Amino acid sequence: MKNWEKNIRKVIPYVPGEQPDAPGMVKLNTNENPYPPAPGVRKAIQEFQVDKLKLYPDPTAGILVKALADYYQLKEDQVFVGVGSDDVLAMAFMTFFNSDKPILFPDITYSFYDVWAELLHIPYERPVLNEDFRIRKEDYYRENGGIVIANPNAPTSLYEDVGFIRDILEHNQDSIVIVDEAYIDFGGTSSLDLIKEFDNLLVVQTFSKSRSMAGLRIGYAMGSSVLIKALNDVKYSYNSYTMNQTSIYFGVEAVKDEAYFKECLGRIIDTREWTKKELGKLGFSFLDSKTNFIFAAHKDIPAEEIFLALKAKNIFVRYFNKPRISNYLRITIGTGEEMEKLVKALKVIVFDASK
Ligand SMILES: *Cc1c(COP(=O)(O)O)cnc(C)c1O
Repeated sequence: MKNWEKNIRKVIPYVPGEQPDAPGMVKLNTNENPYPPAPGVRKAIQEFQVDKLKLYPDPTAGILVKALADYYQLKEDQVFVGVGSDDVLAMAFMTFFNSDKPILFPDITYSFYDVWAELLHIPYERPVLNEDFRIRKEDYYRENGGIVIANPNAPTSLYEDVGFIRDILEHNQDSIVIVDEAYIDFGGTSSLDLIKEFDNLLVVQTFSKSRSMAGLRIGYAMGSSVLIKALNDVKYSYNSYTMNQTSIYFGVEAVKDEAYFKECLGRIIDTREWTKKELGKLGFSFLDSKTNFIFAAHKDIPAEEIFLALKAKNIFVRYFNKPRISNYLRITIGTGEEMEKLVKALKVIVFDASK
């Protein structure tokens, strides 16, 4: 090893789901929304004046912050925006987790949390989910340097109610609690109301899943003005122009069309419930999803085998070769038609395996 190599930061990166581009593929592996962004977004993109790109974007992303503040009935100083919620969460880890005490998040959760903790040298501990994959709130009744809860949790798909989050906050008034609500629009109730009572609560959401805009990279955090100011101070110490002009403009349009938003969510939820019934008939069991994906295991066939067999049929789902969850598949809810293709393919796979 060369001497200079010793000074390179050693990290084991997060592995995102693959983004294949095969003709005719059914892509159910990264929890994207199968429906296009709101029609207003398309119109705004068509009308966008390319000349504007010669200027830097507004570093405050003011119109997007205002659109979100109005939507959630908050003040503008209670909203922070970033390049997807990954950027917002990474910034929040950097801003809020500077204690010598460990931060806490479940053993099975979004697998970026431990990557950021490692990258930023933040000590962490991971209380284990119970045998039903539920978070045990008592595990969070102890001294810590901060708490991160994905609600609904990923990849388990399980949702805990607002009372549960309130309980965690009541036991943790001395540390910052981040609730990652990437999937909240698919059937849960947001903990956002609790920011009125708890100025140590940060609620993080994204345009990537429920608003069909994964490609634009927009995430946001909501909390007390003290938390938001701290996030902005760190952001401006790092990169003033995180949000590009197009994300700012088109993000505003996405928030405007409530009817379209609700319609897409309704369709995805209906398709999810249909898919659950069909998977049940094929011998799968799964958790009670409040998300746009199903976390499912088959009674006889190992998950990895199904994952590979589906891939051979050009159907992509997510498989995690990790302790406790290596027999599960995470299947994103696509369109009705895509899920029919999935079920058809699974019927063949299950039949072939039974021979
Ligand atoms: C998808 C996801 C994110 C990140 O989404 P962005 O595309 O970066 O906004 C964050 N947390 C969880 C739990 C997710 O599933």
